[in-house]
Amino acid sequence: MTNSSGQTRNPVYLGLDIGGSFVKYGVVNSDGTVLFSSRTPTLLDGGPQRLIDTLHRVILEMAEHSVSRGFRPQAIGIGSPGTINPCSGKITGESPNLPGWVNVELRTPFAEFGLPIAVDNDANCSAYAEYTYGAASGSRHALVLTLGTGIGSGIIIDGRLFHGAHYTGAELGHISINSRGPSCGCGNRGCLELYASAGAILRRAARLADFYPHSALAHIDFSAREDSSLAGVFSAARDGDPAAVELLETVADDLAVGLASIINAFDPEVLVVGGGAADAAPEFIADVFRRTKRLTFKNSAPKTKLVPAKLGNRAGFIGAAALGRNATEHP
Ligand SMILES: [Zn+2]
Repeated sequence: MTNSSGQTRNPVYLGLDIGGSFVKYGVVNSDGTVLFSSRTPTLLDGGPQRLIDTLHRVILEMAEHSVSRGFRPQAIGIGSPGTINPCSGKITGESPNLPGWVNVELRTPFAEFGLPIAVDNDANCSAYAEYTYGAASGSRHALVLTLGTGIGSGIIIDGRLFHGAHYTGAELGHISINSRGPSCGCGNRGCLELYASAGAILRRAARLADFYPHSALAHIDFSAREDSSLAGVFSAARDGDPAAVELLETVADDLAVGLASIINAFDPEVLVVGGGAADAAPEFIADVFRRTKRLTFKNSAPKTKLVPAKLGNRAGFIGAAALGRNATEHP
């Protein structure tokens, strides 16, 4: 659908966010408004083609939904776990969240749609969404950390995502805060995500529950879903449970040490923290920010804005769609 000047009317962008359990997807317009969204299980049994088939079906569903309502898809954006070469659209390194999803081309299988296709790491997509439409919009230099099972992160420098020379950079969760800490899957020891991700908070809470059987932590079902167990930990702290309060103060200190190092290294305009742990307890994140401010260089601390994320768990596909939109402007 084009008007007399040749400009496409009602442009929309199709965003996909491949997760360990679900592919989240949505149709996003130029303002970042989500016009349609859904999710479907991530099924990889039988190999990568199974998931490619799912993505194909999902893109077709979004395209049909858009066209039937007078919108014209302009581009596709795909966020995926793992190391991604955004130039070739290939997954070159496997993520522990999605074993077997590697050496997969994510552009060629969808060439038949005839649209520009942007491909990037899922954490980068979430960061780009907050930068474009969310908590960091209006800035040029932004860092976004997502506290989930691990710590996802993205770095935007002068309006562009930073990938590193081998596309494995921007892993702020793997900054070490303890040289004698536990071994991390990345090869280092004492990484920030081992202390301050949502997964780490739950592991530490479960250990404390064993030590303090009379603590409210001992009543939490740590085998339940991550967000519900996490809500239990924050609720125990709000009720003044001493073990829970001490745990969250320790985690806040650990996270603040990491964030302060990151701020001192990058001097961003905005640092955004999101994810399950941030969504569940705004007061916890506010406390982390206060502790961080005390630890940063005195000349940068008042200038860097520390803010909670705005877009929640839709950030992945919204950011993928935004990167797709970029691909139409800078093919
Ligand atoms: Zn690590």
